[in-house]
Amino acid sequence: MTVAAGTTMIGSGQAPLIDPFGRAISYLRVSVTDRCDFRCFYCMSEHMSFLPKQELLSLEELDRLCSAFVTRGVKKLRLTGGEPLVRRDIMVLFRSLARHLESGALEELTLTTNGSQLTRFAQELADCGVKRINISLDTLDPKKFHAITRWGDISKVLAGIDAAQAAGLHVKINAVALKGDNEDEIPSLMEWAHGRGMDLSLIEVMPLGEVGTERVDQYLPLSLVRARLETKYTLEDIEFRTGGPARYVSVKETGGRLGFITPLTHNFCEGCNRVRVTCTGTLYMCLGQDDAADLRTPLRASEADGLLQAAIEEAIARKPKGHDFVIDRRTKRPAVSRHMSLTGG
Ligand code: SAM
Repeated sequence: MTVAAGTTMIGSGQAPLIDPFGRAISYLRVSVTDRCDFRCFYCMSEHMSFLPKQELLSLEELDRLCSAFVTRGVKKLRLTGGEPLVRRDIMVLFRSLARHLESGALEELTLTTNGSQLTRFAQELADCGVKRINISLDTLDPKKFHAITRWGDISKVLAGIDAAQAAGLHVKINAVALKGDNEDEIPSLMEWAHGRGMDLSLIEVMPLGEVGTERVDQYLPLSLVRARLETKYTLEDIEFRTGGPARYVSVKETGGRLGFITPLTHNFCEGCNRVRVTCTGTLYMCLGQDDAADLRTPLRASEADGLLQAAIEEAIARKPKGHDFVIDRRTKRPAVSRHMSLTGG
């Protein structure tokens, strides 16, 4: 392999992945399953058809794929889904990937979860070297929770949060800001999270996949949420970053941190360091664009990683500048047809 002059050699001697806009790819998000035990109404349609299991990469293949990115400079690896903790034997993958933490090649191994399975898995995740996790929770009201998730039980999630904290995991709560559904609850959700020593990040709903309702009826701009919060709280912008797209403020009255993930009102594509792989080995260079690369074929074509690495390089060389999400009454179609549960949130 030829390496451009001035390029730093890393990992096992391979060059880092730099896209056409000079952005280094240091963060990989891997959706290990498209299945979930919830059906959040803004994420999935009520009757989803899921991928046949034989199309999925095996855990060994997922390991190989993740490891190929780690040798190319990925420092942060997030397993997501669907719900990552409903994938059978998922701990085998966590345990195996932990070797990259031990070697120092990887700085962070983490996951995004709905929390429903954490009473079972929190301690094992901590034992694998997972330090921080994101738990998605849009409301603390049991009835609303059931309505948003279509069939979720909030008591399991709250028990999961307890288990995660008891295992020493640092928990961040992610909540999608939903017009009419949880907008009045955002201050109390924040006070609850901060009271338990957890950061809260708010997320703008994105137009991903057909979900059977108009996005405009769900969309709550975080610029508005922030303005409302500022009538009651003192928010101070801070430089704190976790390697993702959230921009943080500290809240004087609670002493906690609040993140804003604003793909619509203010995207941060210029600093994007991420790519995503689905459970079938499809690499998406941008959450909001259709262009993708098949990594399963080169992965399966050879036991050595040459073809796989070449496919990854080729894909990164066409990572787009960013996405152009639009939510308004005139724009009826989603930005991309795939749901967040497939690409991995
Ligand atoms: N099941 C896991 C969970 O609940 O966190 C991981 C996958 S889930 C797709 C990841 C995150 O994406 C969740 O926080 C979810 O609320 C969020 N999400 C799903 N669809 C979304 C959309 N259309 N716009 C914004 N966020 C969305």
